[in-house]
Amino acid sequence: MASSISWERYRNFINGEWAPSVGQAWIQRTNPANQSERIGEVPDSTAEDVELAVTAANLALNAWRRLAGAERGNLLYRAADLVEKHKRELARLATREMGKTLMEMTQEVARGADILRYYAGEGMRKTGDVIPSANRDHLLFTTRVPMGVAALITPWNFPVAIPLWKLAPALVYGNTVIWKPSPEASITAVKLTGLLAEAGFPPGVVNLVHGGKKTGEAMVSHPRVQAVSFTGSNAAGRQIAIEAARTGKKVQLEMGGKNPVIVTDKADLDKSVRMTISGAMKSAGQKCTATSRAIVFRSVYDDFKEKLLEEVKQITVGDGLNEAAWMGPLVSQSQWDKVMSYIRQGLSEGAELLCGGKRPEGADYEQGFFIEPTVFANVTTEMTLAQEEIFGPVLALMVVDSLEEALQLANDVRFGLSASIFTEDIQEAMQFIQDMEAGMIRINGESAGVELQAPFGGMKASSSYSKEQGTAAIEFYTTSKTVTICG
Ligand code: NAD
Repeated sequence: MASSISWERYRNFINGEWAPSVGQAWIQRTNPANQSERIGEVPDSTAEDVELAVTAANLALNAWRRLAGAERGNLLYRAADLVEKHKRELARLATREMGKTLMEMTQEVARGADILRYYAGEGMRKTGDVIPSANRDHLLFTTRVPMGVAALITPWNFPVAIPLWKLAPALVYGNTVIWKPSPEASITAVKLTGLLAEAGFPPGVVNLVHGGKKTGEAMVSHPRVQAVSFTGSNAAGRQIAIEAARTGKKVQLEMGGKNPVIVTDKADLDKSVRMTISGAMKSAGQKCTATSRAIVFRSVYDDFKEKLLEEVKQITVGDGLNEAAWMGPLVSQSQWDKVMSYIRQGLSEGAELLCGGKRPEGADYEQGFFIEPTVFANVTTEMTLAQEEIFGPVLALMVVDSLEEALQLANDVRFGLSASIFTEDIQEAMQFIQDMEAGMIRINGESAGVELQAPFGGMKASSSYSKEQGTAAIEFYTTSKTVTICG
């Protein structure tokens, strides 16, 4: 991409310093709500930049892993305070860069500070078990040690929370990291890294390398990277898994979803409508856990559809910085094109468009990647709308006659990330918990949303079955040694 002097330029962060890239290519960021507003540009880093960052991380490793967990935790507490102090500024920047409404973004940053605090406390928790030895003179125990240099590759849709739910456990358990954010969330990453630097992490412990797919590939194939944690699309995740296996790395993948809600004839209909809309349309549907299929019992279908349409039509779309906007734009032109092509495909495959399906009208929307909240009816399971992750504000309505049929449809996708049921019947809820093929199950709540102290992750093509967050993170960011002291 051609560079221009009028763009504010940002750098990589390597070995405790803001470092220029070895290469000459730049990635430019404009506001997705208004493309004429420039946010800045970051280097499209080369394999040599990655080499510098890995070298720095590797050099810093020994001293960092030898600190007491509590000392590492203290730096995370400091980082949490700084993130909280700069909450508004960070949220505003992220909204300008990727479009999520300021209210959602502010909540996300607050959650980021909580994630840092949760893992700061991990520095003082147990790292192993004592196992009774068959020999009474022996002490047999396990102890956890860090993996080493960890490569963290993140998407743009949670530009603060996802990086922090990887960075915080990686760091507290004694790893050094190289983080490559999505090009679409790079400037937010600069700000966040600045706060981590201010918290006082030693040089080389946290490294930020900007770039796209090629930069990520250089990280994944680097022989001195021991662990790769990736969140993003299935296509990229699959390639990363192959490369990580080829080069013998521990790898963790969290990927896409096609998340259903089931609404039975025993549901609180008003609540199910509210939660379905919130799950489908917040963040303009750009959440891995977003609701994309509503599978509704025939006996309540017409009521559900009517109430849903009434409320969807009330949604205000606009620039995420505008307090009146409930839903912002999509992140980029390519994302807008992709969602519009799914909408066209839905129409050509015979689904019925109930509302939306186009850019909202008016001058306010012409410069941004806006799409109206879109609802399709008469969607059947073989349609693309029912199978592919759209990652936009598009909801497919499907009708069923029983819970068995609903579960069969709900599971009839390659993904298995999150799923909800709306019912007041405990037996239906229990059956759903048993039979739904998804890593994140919710009863009478929207499909999106999870608490940071609980494990997060999917099943089937959504995941590599290595959970993140809560107490699960230690499994990925450490490995255990079994020790016998023979007396
Ligand atoms: P993406 O796969 O295009 O990119 C994600 C990251 O991977 C970016 O930093 C990108 O530069 C990098 N990358 C891409 N190809 C790579 C490769 N071959 N090697 C190394 N790095 C590579 O995804 P995106 O568009 O940024 O994010 C949207 C996707 O993320 C959706 O599919 C969504 O469901 C998924 N997601 C999943 C979760 C989850 O926890 N399951 C959470 C958020 C988003």
